[in-house]
Amino acid sequence: MFAVVNPATELPIAQLDEAGVEETDAAVERARESFPAWRAVAPSDRARLLRRLATLVDEHREELAQIESRNVGKPIAGARAEVGMVADVFHFYAGAVDKHHGETIPVVGGVDMTFHEPLGVVGLIGPWNFPLNISSWKLGPALACGNTVVLKPAELTPLSALRLAELALEAGIPEGVVNVVAGPGRIVGQRLVEHPDVAKIGFTGSTEVGRGVMQAAAGTIKRVTLELGGKSANVVFADADLERAASSAPYAVFDNAGQDCCARSRILVEKSVYDRFLDLLVEATRRVRVGDPADEQTEMGPLISAEQRDKVASYVADTVSAFRGEVPEGAGYWYPCTLVEATNDDRVAREEVFGPVAAIIPFADEEDAIRIANDTPYGLSGSIWTENGARALRVARALETGVLSINSNTSVRPSTPFGGFKQSGFGRELGMRALDGYSEVKNVFVAT
Ligand code: NAD
Repeated sequence: MFAVVNPATELPIAQLDEAGVEETDAAVERARESFPAWRAVAPSDRARLLRRLATLVDEHREELAQIESRNVGKPIAGARAEVGMVADVFHFYAGAVDKHHGETIPVVGGVDMTFHEPLGVVGLIGPWNFPLNISSWKLGPALACGNTVVLKPAELTPLSALRLAELALEAGIPEGVVNVVAGPGRIVGQRLVEHPDVAKIGFTGSTEVGRGVMQAAAGTIKRVTLELGGKSANVVFADADLERAASSAPYAVFDNAGQDCCARSRILVEKSVYDRFLDLLVEATRRVRVGDPADEQTEMGPLISAEQRDKVASYVADTVSAFRGEVPEGAGYWYPCTLVEATNDDRVAREEVFGPVAAIIPFADEEDAIRIANDTPYGLSGSIWTENGARALRVARALETGVLSINSNTSVRPSTPFGGFKQSGFGRELGMRALDGYSEVKNVFVAT
């Protein structure tokens, strides 16, 4: 057995059976047996089942939000919004089921056509920061394409995935199509990656573990999608609406207590407005409401674990803080909102902190901004703040990153592709693109 803990109270909220290799193999076998019947379900019926799952998620929004809030420490208002997105993701893929089709290609001597075939059993491995959301990003396209799945949630946060699997059954998705194994990554995850009957791994997690997944997948030439870490830049030019940029910037780092792959944790500011922007940013950060995740007003909760808190603290130890917020006293893995003045060579600016810490870095001009923003092994997301439209697009094209927003800090929508450049991984989730990652193109020639 293993205990699942509420990070705001440090108290256990559930005891689970820990899955191991035997349970993982049983889940893969079950998914393998269920595959032929599931792939044969008419697309319109598969769509209906996904739509029903979306509706059930909506109907259970409060329950799922409470699970996610207590297990991850997410503020309840934000958790409700996340569950809303999960329902939207299933609605999107319900609509996509019968729109991801092949093409006919005129060729000499006949006709050529392509089919999008499901892969078979896919292994889905998720992180602890957005357990339910990221499960839906993978489950939606995997099921839409006709695959059966074995989902392994992070060991710290398995509860919402288990509840989601129950709702999938209630929606009428046949038994054996969605399987969940809750257990340690190095045992359950590793087994899924090495299992000869698993055709693909959809992985979201750290770059370090992702590297190991890629190596282990080589043994069976398994397909992999890797959604990994980030160190994204929030680039603020002197001609930006500074008030708007400054009031948005804290939420782009401190949402989910900074445990966000898209966190804009390097705030790059043009030198001529640096001091003014820093004042505005400190003011805005002071307003972030940190506290009990169950409180409707709370905007930032605790970190996921004591280990994560210690790791975050180690990044701040030798830096100059421009601001450090307050945290509640007593139990809970709290860490305050922290703004650090840095250069891009400092460790706090180079590594993914995964906590509520932002590095503020000055730049001289547009060229310097692009150089600094790209000077990182990561390339997941980022923002550009300027009132100059041509500059916005010029810089957007120059940045080596997968998901950008201009005069905004949002990254994720059900219908738009999401994924990284460089060591932030490869493959895309969400939107129609994700379907390519859960299907194989078959090419058939007919001689005429
Ligand atoms: P992690 O890499 O520690 O774990 C991710 C998952 O991998 C967990 O389920 C874990 O049990 C499993 N795992 C561990 N060892 C394994 C192994 N040997 N084989 C197979 N699976 C194994 O990541 P985390 O700490 O849970 O999540 C935080 C990380 O995830 C951050 O780096 C963050 O940036 C990243 N992340 C990326 C995205 C994205 O879309 N790019 C989204 C969210 C989080």
